[in-house]
Amino acid sequence: MPKSNFQAQLLPTLKTYFGYDSFRDQQKAIVETVLRNKDCLVIMPTGGGKSICFQLPALLLKGTTLVISPLIALMKDQVDGLNANGIPAAFFNSSQDTAQQEDILDRVIKADLKLLYVAPESLAALQNILNESYISCIAIDEAHCISSWGHDFRPSYQQLGFLKKSLPNIPIIALTATADKATRQDILNQLQIPNATAFLSSFDRENIELEVRPANNRASQIINFITKKSNESGIIYCLSRKNTEQISKKLNDNGIHASAYHAGLSFEERTKVQENFIFDKVQVVCATVAFGMGIDKSNVRFVIHHNMPKNIEGYYQEIGRSGRDGLNAKALLFHSYADVIQLRKFASGAANEEVQIAKLERMKQFSEANTCRRKILLSYFGELLAENCGNCDVCKNPPQFFDGTIIGQKILSTITRLNESEATGTVIDVLRGAKNANILEKRYDRIKTFGIGHDITWKDWQQYIIQLINQGFCEIAFHKNNALQLTSFSNKVLYENTKIYLTRPVDRIENVKEEKRKQPKKSKDNSLFERLRKLRYKISLEENIPAYLVFSDAALKEMERVRPMSASEFLTISGVGQRKLEVYGDEFIAEIMSFMNSKIKAPKKTETHMVTYQLYKSGLSIDEISIERKLKSTTIYSHIAKLHSDGKDINIFDFVSKSEVEAVKKVKTELDAPKSLKPYFEHFEGELDYFKIRLALSVIDTKA
Ligand code: ADP
Ligand code: ZN
Repeated sequence: MPKSNFQAQLLPTLKTYFGYDSFRDQQKAIVETVLRNKDCLVIMPTGGGKSICFQLPALLLKGTTLVISPLIALMKDQVDGLNANGIPAAFFNSSQDTAQQEDILDRVIKADLKLLYVAPESLAALQNILNESYISCIAIDEAHCISSWGHDFRPSYQQLGFLKKSLPNIPIIALTATADKATRQDILNQLQIPNATAFLSSFDRENIELEVRPANNRASQIINFITKKSNESGIIYCLSRKNTEQISKKLNDNGIHASAYHAGLSFEERTKVQENFIFDKVQVVCATVAFGMGIDKSNVRFVIHHNMPKNIEGYYQEIGRSGRDGLNAKALLFHSYADVIQLRKFASGAANEEVQIAKLERMKQFSEANTCRRKILLSYFGELLAENCGNCDVCKNPPQFFDGTIIGQKILSTITRLNESEATGTVIDVLRGAKNANILEKRYDRIKTFGIGHDITWKDWQQYIIQLINQGFCEIAFHKNNALQLTSFSNKVLYENTKIYLTRPVDRIENVKEEKRKQPKKSKDNSLFERLRKLRYKISLEENIPAYLVFSDAALKEMERVRPMSASEFLTISGVGQRKLEVYGDEFIAEIMSFMNSKIKAPKKTETHMVTYQLYKSGLSIDEISIERKLKSTTIYSHIAKLHSDGKDINIFDFVSKSEVEAVKKVKTELDAPKSLKPYFEHFEGELDYFKIRLALSVIDTKA
């Protein structure tokens, strides 16, 4: 199949059906490879845009593209999304009755379906259509499920090797977000596509801001964090069921609509929570790690780890559920030693205990890092970032080091005097001179260093001790009740004048208290974005599809910025294709117009030309606009010129004739394109008004 057949159709099809103007990274190359009938292996992070890689070829090729997918929930979501874009697609599974199933097979035979989603278990029922005259391409989503090396092994995936055998001339495209080499090789072997072209994308998710905070007062920190994110969807991952329920309750007590999700709930309850989240009916889900697998929700704006994840793979996968639409998202991780200790306990005794502990150790190092966190993450996945990312807490707030030798010495000598037998809490109590039962009972108040650190807060001592541990000046003996112990480095500080450099702990709790006094922000509710979001929500309920399938947050943001007021402008929005224009265009344009109307009373300076535009679109003449707005008509003309050069829908030739434009064009060349309007005006000896010159230039520049 020669490449040129499709080349000219790629971008128009992308725009018409998906509403996008350009391909991302490797999408184009992948689509072209599939269209050349070649097998592909696509490795792209979550949110990278894998779906387009097989959905676009499906539209161009004759026949139906079969999509193998492991989760029924995901299939439904994708099919709803495709239908919303006017693409004939369906899924086939055991929950359907015979009539429904037959109808689907019929549509394949009639070439009336572009995409058919199916779980591997249901393939056997598709025997009749599994031949090369009906099937155009086979996409295998979540292809890592085929490999027992991967973390999501599904035995039913292992029978998929037969596909290449029975349909040898049909291209197979395998897609996954799992990078490791063993899994990749396994996919190629088992699918029998050894010569597939591999496409490896960067694993960087630049739009996700990374932050790690010490786990003091987590609940208030979380409440404070979410209060500032009015109405934005987010997930909070917790270690235990109890945690999920506690946090969820606290959030609700503070006016944030949240639900808990964990394995202790019934299947129905879990489905309900998941659905409410997808439909934006609940803002936050507090979940154990089980949550999120089958969720493609593109507008998750934050992921919080209330507890430390077991390993970096899990962490990356979980934060990857935010910001799939490419807009800014935030990943906030709380780091606590208690969690590390707990996770160590979970790991001990496991068959691969050593591996688990080593992975936990890497996770801990990531949390404690003083260097760009994204660099650490990506290097873990074998990808090297040349520059610091600028979008993590370390980059944004680089640590300031000071000479902390005396502080270090106080800690180390206290550890010595406690015979290296006490955990962090007791060491700090001694330093601060606490007279609690434990201290008095053990007579620690007689120790020489008792109370030498009363001037430093408990929390700060804790931070300093963590820093000493990270720098190797002391360590936690996990097998001895987590006692703090000395290392070979300790003596250098105590006896050889080796200096210790520490960073000042960031006092976030202070921030929490301060901001609690402020009223939560309400002003955002009147923004155009908020109004469009409400409209989207209304439509989502009416049509029973998730709001993000109506339009993504990114599309709404662009509408807010561009304020399209005509069909042709609406179509320029990324994410608006032909069908969405037809079905939703009028309602959204009306909402934008009504928003603009409400602004006419008190226009902001920056919006003044848009107010003019709104009046223009409602049919007023320049003079009428000028009266309505109490502005000079020359000002209104300058708005018209700007609107025209901004690409707005202006009938420019109502204001300046084609011959006038030609005349200005000639003069422009003669005068060597002067910067100001005056030379033109003088050239025409006052015969052509300033505003006409201006409009003519706008036409000339727009065409150029
Ligand atoms: P993945 O399956 O890799 O996790 P998706 O295919 O769901 O990712 O795409 C993630 C998001 O990116 C979706 O909201 C999708 O609509 C959007 N997207 C994909 N390709 C493009 C593109 N070329 N331009 C703009 N947005 C895109
Ligand atoms: Zn960084």
